[in-house]
Amino acid sequence: MVLRAPGRPLEPADLAPPVPGDGEVLVRVSACGVCRTDLHVVDGELSQPKLPLVPGHQIVGTVVDGGERFAAGERIGIPWLGETCGRCRFCQSGRENLCDAPTFTGYDRDGGYAELAVAAEAFAFPLPPGLSDLEIAPLLCAGLIGYRALRMAGDAERLGLYGFGAAAHIICQVARHQGRRVFAFTRADDADAQRFARDLGAEWAGDAREPAPEELDAAILFAPVGEHVPAALRATSKGGTVVCAGIHMSDIPSFPYKLLWGERSVRSVANLTRRDGEEFLALAPTVPVHTHVAEYPLERANDALDDLRAGRVEGSAVLSLA
Ligand SMILES: [Zn+2]
Ligand SMILES: [Zn+2]
Repeated sequence: MVLRAPGRPLEPADLAPPVPGDGEVLVRVSACGVCRTDLHVVDGELSQPKLPLVPGHQIVGTVVDGGERFAAGERIGIPWLGETCGRCRFCQSGRENLCDAPTFTGYDRDGGYAELAVAAEAFAFPLPPGLSDLEIAPLLCAGLIGYRALRMAGDAERLGLYGFGAAAHIICQVARHQGRRVFAFTRADDADAQRFARDLGAEWAGDAREPAPEELDAAILFAPVGEHVPAALRATSKGGTVVCAGIHMSDIPSFPYKLLWGERSVRSVANLTRRDGEEFLALAPTVPVHTHVAEYPLERANDALDDLRAGRVEGSAVLSLA
């Protein structure tokens, strides 16, 4: 499924099979998660994709050919971080997520809305057993970037999650496993998302525009809504952190300095490091994380994107190529 220009639906296309280069592997895709970032690419909010583009960066597949790291037939995962330069000061200081010259899967490189995909083997992950291809796909971005955001929230006991989609439904489970208390903030009328959050262990779920039921120690914003930043600061105690986990957000309205005073901080989380992926993929089966998946065949990728845009997906949308 190919994006020819932002703002247009994806088109089915027959492409030549991709050929792995040095250090790359060719995989047969079995599942590919649909991420909000894909929506930002398709809708033109991330404005520099390669074109035409095969989107998708939560790829589960089996190795067909190429590379030295993985055996043919091995199940691997391909995430958003496609490759880094390895030389810039960020790469050299354990911050490859901030690399000056990265390529991203399903943005600068063709991704997994396809039967075949090519990846740099050093940036792919071996996958733990126990979860199906469909269940594990959402861990590859929603899960591991969500996990990076959770780490940035420090040891907060009372954790607010703004937006309860793919990432929050995973991170809620991890946070509960760590003994934290979770408060879920959704759209006012989204009773389904609120029930879903309570089912997964949130002790409170309600309207993001209403005051929090009690003070929070940290908040993670998964919804790309700038108004949530001052709201989350208002809900957060002294010393607390508000973590913005999305790659794109509407403008943040101005707010009085007193909301930031008291050593509160606002920060973003960008991309992932391979270490984040290795840590999270080891942690997830011990929680254990259960992903809730809405399955779509590849040719219905546009329906999956439309449902995600409209907030109709409970958990994670995943394209299935089985
Ligand atoms: Zn670099
Ligand atoms: Zn993503």
